[in-house]
This record gives sequence, C-alpha cells and structure tokens, in this order.
Amino acid sequence: MNHDESRAMYDRALSVMPGGVNSAVRAAIEPYPFFVRKGDGGHVIDADGNRYVDWVMGLGPLLLGHDLPEQVRSAIQRTASEGPMYGAPTEVEVDLAEFVARHVPSVEQVRFVNSGTEATVSAIRLARGYTGRNKIVVMQGGYHGAQESTLVEGDAENPRPSSAGIPQSFAEHTLPVPFNDREAMTEVFAEHGEDVAAVLTEPILGNYGIVHPEEGYHEFLREITDEHGALLVFDEVITGFRVGGLGCAQGHFGVTPDLTTFGKVVGGGFPVGAVGGSAEIMENLAPAGDVFQAGTFSGHPVTMAAGLETLRYAAEHDVYDHVDRLGERLREGLEEIVADQAPEYTVVGAASTFKVIFTRDGTPPKNAADVKKAETDRWRRIFWEQMKDEGVFLSQNQFEAQFVSAAHTGEDVDRTLEAYEATL
Ligand SMILES: *Cc1c(COP(=O)(O)O)cnc(C)c1O
Repeated sequence: MNHDESRAMYDRALSVMPGGVNSAVRAAIEPYPFFVRKGDGGHVIDADGNRYVDWVMGLGPLLLGHDLPEQVRSAIQRTASEGPMYGAPTEVEVDLAEFVARHVPSVEQVRFVNSGTEATVSAIRLARGYTGRNKIVVMQGGYHGAQESTLVEGDAENPRPSSAGIPQSFAEHTLPVPFNDREAMTEVFAEHGEDVAAVLTEPILGNYGIVHPEEGYHEFLREITDEHGALLVFDEVITGFRVGGLGCAQGHFGVTPDLTTFGKVVGGGFPVGAVGGSAEIMENLAPAGDVFQAGTFSGHPVTMAAGLETLRYAAEHDVYDHVDRLGERLREGLEEIVADQAPEYTVVGAASTFKVIFTRDGTPPKNAADVKKAETDRWRRIFWEQMKDEGVFLSQNQFEAQFVSAAHTGEDVDRTLEAYEATL
C-alpha cells in the first residue's frame, strides 16, 4: 500500500502544527497517519487513493456515514448558502432543542455549545453554581474532553493533573474513583458528601476500552447522589443518539440524570456540544440565571440544521435498527474469531459500537485498571497497521470505541471479520 502523498503531507504538517495534527489521537498511528481525501458511504479514501472500510466515523459523530441523505445535505447547503451565522437566534435552534427535549427523558431545556469539551465545562460550572459546592466525582478512565476539571488522574485521596499546565489546586476539586466500584463511591460521599456538586460519568465508558456498567450501578449512582444533594451528570457525548436510539443511553438504562452532556451525533458531523436537563436546573444558566455561559458560534445554524435533519432521518428510516444489527453481527463474528484465535482477548460494545480489547481477566473489564492491562504495543505496532493494509480503518488506539453507520453494509462487516481473522 502506497502512502507517499500522506507522508509528504505529514512532513509539511510537522513544520506548522504540533505533532502534525489538530487533535492528539490522530497521530497515534506510527510513523505517520494517512491523510483522508474524502469519504464514500461507509468507506474513506486516503490521499494516495487507498480505500478503507471506515469504523472510525469521525470518532463517533457520523451516524449516517459519509454520504449524507438528500434531506440532510440539502438542509445543510440551504442553511449555509443563506449566510453562515448571525449572532442572533434562529428557528432551527428551537427546532433541534424541541427534538432533543421530546426524545431524551431527562431533558426539558438545552444549551447548545460547540464541542463536547465545552459541554462538560458548562455542565460542571452549572452543577457547581446550582449546588454551591466545588467537588466533582469522575470515573478513572472516563473522558470528558480536554478541560481542566476532568484531566485528572490518581484517586479520591490523591488526585493530580493528568496533563502539564493544570494547577494541582484545580485537580484537588476532582475526585477520581474506579467505575463500577460502589464501595469507593460510598467512601467518597462519606468523606466529602457535603462538598460534592456532581458525579460525572459516561453511561458506558467509551474512550477507554468500552466498559459497561454492572447491573444496578447507575441506579446506585442515582440514589447516592440524591441522598447527598449532588447532581448526577451523564456525559452522553458518545452514547447520545448512538446507544438506546433517540432516547440515548439514559433511556436504555432507565436511569434519569440531572444533567446530560451531548456532542458528536447531535451535530450531524459539524462541531457541536450541548447541555440538557430540567428547567429548574438549566435556568441557572445566563441570561436566565447567574451561571455565566456564552459562545459566538453556539447554536450555529449549519450545525443545527445538520443535527436536526440527521436525527429526523434516523427517526424516519430505521437507522438504529440497521446500525445496531450490524454492530451485533460484528460483535458476534468477533466473539467467534477471538474464541478461536485469541481467547485472552475480549469483545466489547453495545448498539452500534464495538472493540476488541487485547486482554481479559476471566471476565470482561469492569474498570479502567482492567483495561490498562491490555497489550497496547501489539495493538499499535502490529495489529492496527495490518488491519489498515487489509483495507480496514480502526480507531487510532487500543482504547477508543469504533462505530457503525447507516452507510455500512453486510459486505463491509464480512470483509472486516475476514481481516480480523487474518490479523488476530
Ligand atoms: C469526545 C468526547 C468528549 C469531548 O468532545 P469534543 O467534541 O472532542 O470536545 C467528551 N466526552 C466524551 C464522553 C467524549 O467521547
């Protein structure tokens, strides 16, 4: 497989962009990533003309794949052609907010922002403002974007920044605990209960393996937060409009958080984030309340049109049936291959997400410590590249989820399973 054009582009990029990319994970591929020329249905074509079955799908946003259906494409083009944005409200913002509020159990009001990161920043500020408390409990291995309050590692006794550039005095307000560990959570509340503004978690950890909650875990989180007057915040930036269809993961699990963050799918492939919740909490955001939040591009008309028409299309065309069915076929096929060729590995995922984690402990991973034992080097140095050479584009590291889109076909699944069979 020839990558001369990608190599030349990366060489140029290294001179003008740190690490040659605009988001760190894209350069996880060594020695250099391929550059994408264009998408085509469930595939991408790189700068050298190589074609891959694409299970990265923008790292989550592209529920419909690369060729948007006519109703979505024409809404985007019409909106863009009328002028990019205004700094004044537009009807399409109300349309999308109504759609989200109608379908997502916990949501009465929404504030749209421009990224998942911005959504979690705003949700945390809102939770702190609403409760008058400072501390946030997060899950080890959870990801909530590139922001100061959540780039924190260690444990509740000893939290520390996981990135340079974040003061220890910020990290002290964030308490990481193991996912699925009720005892650790109970201890944190025993110690800090009066100071906890919110527990923030992905309903399914999607950026560190794909770790599922044990039966009853979310109900437990709902109870313990209620008991202590803390908010439960579900970060549904990945799972929102992906797992559980239009009702999101909270509908799937039947647990209603106080606040929900969205991103990825809700913008139909354009930059987006959102915070949603009850009117009582949401109305603490400016200008209704005194928690400041604002954004020049927030509720961008082109993004709103893309998100709204994507979700309308999904509602009208059995999109979730299709992607969930192919997700299940992938996971079942992978289970067979793994049982046969790599019984020490684990197949994970739900709905239209899937991943093979290069470890298991007798049972699937239940927290970040389990996932951490994975054979990352084999995945990165041998496996990813061979899958790429077989024409299959997988997410750029061992830990990020992979996504099925409406554009994928049974043939894409078969080809992918053959590639796993040849490579594992
Ligand atoms: C992707 C992601 C984010 C960050 O969203 P960006 O749009 O990349 O800022 C936050 N939380 C979760 C769960 C995510 O998967």
